[in-house]
Amino acid sequence: MGNSKGECRFCHKIFSGRGIGKHLLACGAKKEKDETLNNRGKNQGYIYHLKISAGRLYWFHIEMEGMATLLDLDDFLRGIWLECCGHLSQFTIRGVRYLSYEEPDDFWGDAPESMNIPLESVLDLKDKFDHKYDFGTPTVLALQVMSIRKGAIDESIRILARNHPPVFECENCKKIATQICSLCMEDYCDKCIKAHECGEDYAMPLVNSPRTGVCGYVGPLEE
Ligand SMILES: [Zn+2]
Ligand SMILES: [Zn+2]
Ligand SMILES: [Zn+2]
Ligand SMILES: [Zn+2]
Repeated sequence: MGNSKGECRFCHKIFSGRGIGKHLLACGAKKEKDETLNNRGKNQGYIYHLKISAGRLYWFHIEMEGMATLLDLDDFLRGIWLECCGHLSQFTIRGVRYLSYEEPDDFWGDAPESMNIPLESVLDLKDKFDHKYDFGTPTVLALQVMSIRKGAIDESIRILARNHPPVFECENCKKIATQICSLCMEDYCDKCIKAHECGEDYAMPLVNSPRTGVCGYVGPLEE
């Protein structure tokens, strides 16, 4: 169900979730833009191209400065996909855990590291790692380093492409669903949710995020 296609933000062509990564590495429109940015005299550094996905429906491709930290990446993920009520989050890279707050006491001797560390000191090309937001009702993301190049970008993180909002059917009438019942996680249209047996109180909007319907998540504050 649904679809995982998305648009390249440089040439505006549409690709599948599987094809977009390869495309972005070769996109002529992107290369042109990159060259313009590189030639403006801003200091060049390592630029990381990351793929971030949650299952097959939800994905992002971003570029990020190697000097930027895991904390910056965590902020970005929270802002666009995850944040509901300030839960803990954690990256796991080659078995090492990086937590969103500093652990005060190292009682067991395996305290996690801080996220306040630059990408380029923990990640190499092709590395796969994961991010978990909220240890109670977790949303887990898979990340991968697609490429590392020398260059300059405008902000510390920029979006290259993201999935189109998936389309779900109403359980009842098969029209396009707009709401999810956060109790039974079934999808309904605006009309059928009113008659749904769990009650309207559990209804939440379907949003373009792997956290849709979880712990009061209603989408980013700004998009
Ligand atoms: Zn393109
Ligand atoms: Zn929450
Ligand atoms: Zn319906
Ligand atoms: Zn329900």
